[in-house]
Amino acid sequence: MSTQSTDNANNAAAAPAPSDFIRDIVAQHVTEKKYPQIHTRFPPEPNGYLHIGHAKSICLNFGIAREFGGVCNLRMDDTNPTKEDVEYVESIQADVNWLIAGWADKHLGLKTASEPFFASDYFDQIYDFAVALIKKGKAFVCDMTPDQTDEYRRLGKPSPFRDRTVEENLDLFTRMKAGEFPDGTRVLRAKIIVDSPNIWLRDPLLYRIRHAEHHHTGAKWCIYPMYDFAHCLSDYLEAITHSICTLEFEVHRPLYDWILESLDLPRYLPHQYEFARLSLSYTIMSKRKLMELVTEKLVTGWDDPRMPTISGIRRRGVTPEALRAFAYHIGITKYNGVTDVAVLEYAIREDLNARAQRRLAVLRPIKVVLTNYPEGQTEQLTAINNPQDETAGTRQIPFTRELFIERDDFAEVPPPKFFRLKPGGEVRLKYSYIIKCEEVVKDAAGNITELRCTADLDSKTGGATSARKVKGTIHWVSAAHAVDAEVRLYDRLFTEAEPEKDGRDFKTVLNPHSLEVITAKCEPSLRDATPEARYQFERLAYFALDKDSTPGQPVFNRTITLKDAWAKEAGKV
Ligand code: ATP
Ligand code: MG
Repeated sequence: MSTQSTDNANNAAAAPAPSDFIRDIVAQHVTEKKYPQIHTRFPPEPNGYLHIGHAKSICLNFGIAREFGGVCNLRMDDTNPTKEDVEYVESIQADVNWLIAGWADKHLGLKTASEPFFASDYFDQIYDFAVALIKKGKAFVCDMTPDQTDEYRRLGKPSPFRDRTVEENLDLFTRMKAGEFPDGTRVLRAKIIVDSPNIWLRDPLLYRIRHAEHHHTGAKWCIYPMYDFAHCLSDYLEAITHSICTLEFEVHRPLYDWILESLDLPRYLPHQYEFARLSLSYTIMSKRKLMELVTEKLVTGWDDPRMPTISGIRRRGVTPEALRAFAYHIGITKYNGVTDVAVLEYAIREDLNARAQRRLAVLRPIKVVLTNYPEGQTEQLTAINNPQDETAGTRQIPFTRELFIERDDFAEVPPPKFFRLKPGGEVRLKYSYIIKCEEVVKDAAGNITELRCTADLDSKTGGATSARKVKGTIHWVSAAHAVDAEVRLYDRLFTEAEPEKDGRDFKTVLNPHSLEVITAKCEPSLRDATPEARYQFERLAYFALDKDSTPGQPVFNRTITLKDAWAKEAGKV
């Protein structure tokens, strides 16, 4: 079997680099030679699998590194020991590698040849930075309870512990580190402005006590830096130039700058830029809620093909090129909004149309017997692998007297303008003959069991006398040669465009038809389907081989239908 063509499939990678306000800033900095090298980072917290929102961030950060000859670090932002796990570290690495392979992998910054950066590797340095802030009189140990702290911050009131001496703060912080105090009894706080209009500057927490093992540092620490403290310092330590995050961090930026500027650091400081996060219709995008779907077994796992996770999307059969094309297409802005999931689906169809091998398969079979075709005869017919790609070539498919066609392609009482098969009517079998339905055979219960037809043996496609035309063409599979395959028909996971509208529980609008499993009759070449290849079952949808396949027993995932059935339903087309 021929392998898939990559020529057409690389369209997305060949697309011109996008332009947006962040890239404009980076371009300006390159012109000014402001930094020795452009250095971005992608900093996921390993507390779940990456989703398509992260894909947008990956494409932005790695895209910038790629376009401006820079580097993008993959950094595990692992400052919260209780929620994080190596399973997530490994899945994140796999997902990032998959998404950037052959595109920006030369720009991937790693700690070692295969290991990403970990914020937790900087705990010693971050601790030293905290000590430096204390020595400068810019941080203090606070003994208020978490509730009191919240209350005081809300009211803009100074902590009664704010004026502790440097010596006392150093002593207490050292003892916090040594494990002398229980969780929640003390914190280290920055000393900034107690009643600042920006709540993040109201003496924010820098360190808290957590007697918990960490997936990466083990039992070494019982105090852990807060995200805001660890993040800017990790950026600095990695010599990041452009620290790009989503809009909700805009209000944290003064704190980001305050910490770095308070430390009198010798090298250039990273700067934070914010862009609008991706929200997609018919999708939820919070790791916590996606985890609920997994733990409550509403899906089969993080990589269930209905999940908006990168691993789910990949398993469904979407290519990295399609995801990158989508990310480039939606662009980068400062305005939060909801992107229609149809935009993603369009990008997937465009990509698969260019690369997918065409195959004949019948999802809901009904038997056709060609009464005038010789029993025992097999003809090999030539079928085109990809009309979008001449280099994809052709293949042979066997044709015999007994075939399967799609149940939907026959109507005993046809509606108006039904150009498929009907009693007494004619239709062309793709790559083959025109057939006419002579008789409908039913069982005792009145169900149709077989259609008896005749073939016009002078009408063969490509034959000398093939000019005769009929309105409909349908697909088919030779019954004797058909390969049974499990086919998983996936649809959107939610029935509502805004699953969480007005605070409703997203689990109440799960689509009960998001997965249907059937056994399809496939042309024999699909026995040799490969996981890398993509297939279009003609007239039906795009499919990819699932990892659950075993030799001789293929399992196919429907990646996406050929047309947007949801738009039709909503009256959009
Ligand atoms: P979630 O809310 O799903 O838990 P998160 O923001 O907490 O997401 P992180 O692991 O901290 O997840 O995210 C890593 C990076 O990905 C961050 O820089 C974050 O800004 C970015 N990111 C997360 N969600 C989105 C999104 N929906 N669109 C674009 N970027 C995102
Ligand atoms: Mg986060």
